[in-house]
Amino acid sequence: MKAPMLAVKDLRVAYGGIQAVKGIDFEVGTGETVCLIGANGAGKTSTLKALARMLPASGSILYRGGDISHCPPHALIGQGLTLVPEGRGVFARLSVEENLDMGAYHRAAAADIADDLARVYQLLPRLKERRTQLAGTLSGGEQQMLALGRALMARPQLLLLDEPSMGLAPLMVRKVFEVVHSIAEQGVSILLVEQNARLALTVSARGYVMESGLITLADRADRLLGDSRVRQAYLGGE
Ligand code: ATP
Repeated sequence: MKAPMLAVKDLRVAYGGIQAVKGIDFEVGTGETVCLIGANGAGKTSTLKALARMLPASGSILYRGGDISHCPPHALIGQGLTLVPEGRGVFARLSVEENLDMGAYHRAAAADIADDLARVYQLLPRLKERRTQLAGTLSGGEQQMLALGRALMARPQLLLLDEPSMGLAPLMVRKVFEVVHSIAEQGVSILLVEQNARLALTVSARGYVMESGLITLADRADRLLGDSRVRQAYLGGE
């Protein structure tokens, strides 16, 4: 594996007395796509929110070599760590383009922002067609594309993606994953949380299986796809 973009040790998250994440270790290499798979309630979303500093957590989170475990969330965006949340989180009453502009709110150089907008529209031409449309009137798939586009406007080095396939028709899921693949090819490191384990493992180099707040398996994605325990529990038992 290449030098880690992210190295997490003994991460723990609790909601009151409920331990959602119970001390997990994992890494994402520079330019690597890694997935976190597991059943509902395993603690995947809590893990991503803890990394984005949206939830209190204990343990160490090294991002590009620096400890960010006490960093405020807005400071992380400027450092290239961006979460695309479950449910997309687009601003329904703003237009597509206004949503994309929000992704670059922390940046000052207007010329660079215009270049990035052009690049996002090249990757996601559908958004360009709909740039004046209110985001709340887009389809679920288009909203997911918008959420990805907005994240790209922040010039991410590490993207945390929470369930990008959720609620989408199969054709749209495929399109969303093609975009995720293109983003990875541009060199962005990706930590992907997905219910669709097969798809997640197909686009990832490595994967971690999470069960009841713990990581129970960690391996190369191709090996996990062939692992009988993963096949039984997460790939429909084939
Ligand atoms: P899903 O795919 O359903 O989102 P997940 O693997 O992402 O599942 P989490 O959402 O991280 O799992 O939830 C982990 C555990 O923490 C679950 O038992 C859940 O009920 C609990 N939990 C999550 N959010 C809260 C909250 N705000 N308050 C209390 N408990 C919570």
